[in-house]
Amino acid sequence: MDYDVVIAGGSVAGLLCAREIASKNHSVLVIEEDSELGTPEHCGGVVSIPAMDDLGIIPMRATLDNKIRSARIVAPSGKNFTLDARPQQVIVLDRREFDKQIAHQAQVKGAEIRVKSSLREITKEGVRTSDGEIKCKIVVDARGVTSLVQKDRTGTLQSAQYEIFADWIDKERIEVYLDQEKYPGFFAWVIPTRRDEAKIGVAGKGINPALAIEEFLKSKGKYSTIRKIFAPIWVKGPIKEFVTGNVVTIGDAAGQAKPTTAGGIYSSGVGGILAGNAISKFLESGNKSKLLEYQKEWHEKFGKEFENMLLARSLLERLDNKSIDGIFESITPKMLDEISKEGSFDFHTTSVAKLLGVRGSVKAIQAILGNELRRLLN
Ligand SMILES: Cc1cc2nc3c(=O)[nH]c(=O)nc-3n(C[C@H](O)[C@H](O)[C@H](O)COP(=O)(O)OP(=O)(O)OC[C@H]3O[C@@H](n4cnc5c(N)ncnc54)[C@H](O)[C@@H]3O)c2cc1C
Repeated sequence: MDYDVVIAGGSVAGLLCAREIASKNHSVLVIEEDSELGTPEHCGGVVSIPAMDDLGIIPMRATLDNKIRSARIVAPSGKNFTLDARPQQVIVLDRREFDKQIAHQAQVKGAEIRVKSSLREITKEGVRTSDGEIKCKIVVDARGVTSLVQKDRTGTLQSAQYEIFADWIDKERIEVYLDQEKYPGFFAWVIPTRRDEAKIGVAGKGINPALAIEEFLKSKGKYSTIRKIFAPIWVKGPIKEFVTGNVVTIGDAAGQAKPTTAGGIYSSGVGGILAGNAISKFLESGNKSKLLEYQKEWHEKFGKEFENMLLARSLLERLDNKSIDGIFESITPKMLDEISKEGSFDFHTTSVAKLLGVRGSVKAIQAILGNELRRLLN
């Protein structure tokens, strides 16, 4: 046996999984097909400090791009509201540096990492890679959405994200633009990274993201692009089986990104940690049922919230622009205050339910959404 475990995919889930396995003194190799960890960055980097604590990471100076004070949500009509993000301790990470920070943690514990090495096939004895055959007891699939797209194309939306310079960016405010005609089932976003610099993105069902983002930017004002990425995001929730035989699937490859926002640093990272612990227990006991503990524990932590997110997604997909504008008309300062103070960035469906459950002019919407809305509100 060359290694106890080979992990395909050297990003947040794969590297955290490697860190846990190596810390229990098992041999683990991470192979990453790109030539540099964290690059190309395909992430907004928005995450909460409590989530970072849970992942066992204190962001370093090079890793932390920005601290967010507020979030502005804009309706198709232009009407908008602003939430105070300070109680939720939201930050923006530089994923290029962040992934290297986790890689360093894994390396210190004893993991081995290889870049420009790609998984070609899972074999009976281990894996076939671009560098040849490697024998191992467990293979971990941490290849992100790429892995999922090969199995199921129906849960992805196309996204575009540009890094830009512009003087109209508010350094401390994230902006989200809802418009079911321009970004069906999703939204456009502005994530400030530093003064006059931001990541601007769009995603939506059936859209041409390149055209949609150009249109969005044109509406904002003058800018210069410094980086462009196009990537699929997964919004269909977790796959059925995280563990099949000696293959353990983690992170985005297991559908562990939020169905509402496609944010997955936290929930995919936790997937990597739980899988790493379960794999270590299996290696120590030889008992295969230990591997299944990973799926059970991930669902105990995120299962209910992800079910609600899927419900919220199916409700929002059915709202047209007029209904969204109607909801915005009915939101009161008291509701915003409550959401700002009591809401959670990582478990946010209670806040979504509060916004959708508003009374008055949106009675008609409640009639359309019916039982599903009531389930979300309960
Ligand atoms: C535009 C965009 C914006 C986002 N913004 C946010 C955000 O603000 N906050 C947030 O929490 N989440 C965000 N996400 C989601 C977040 O990036 C992912 O949930 C997270 O990175 C998942 O980590 P992962 O390790 O599971 O997979 P990934 O980060 O996708 O990593 C998979 C790795 O596997 C490698 N790989 C693929 N195939 C192979 C192979 N055959 N062999 C070896 N290696 C391979 C890839 O090169 C990659 O490095 C965003 C995603 C996108 C696309």
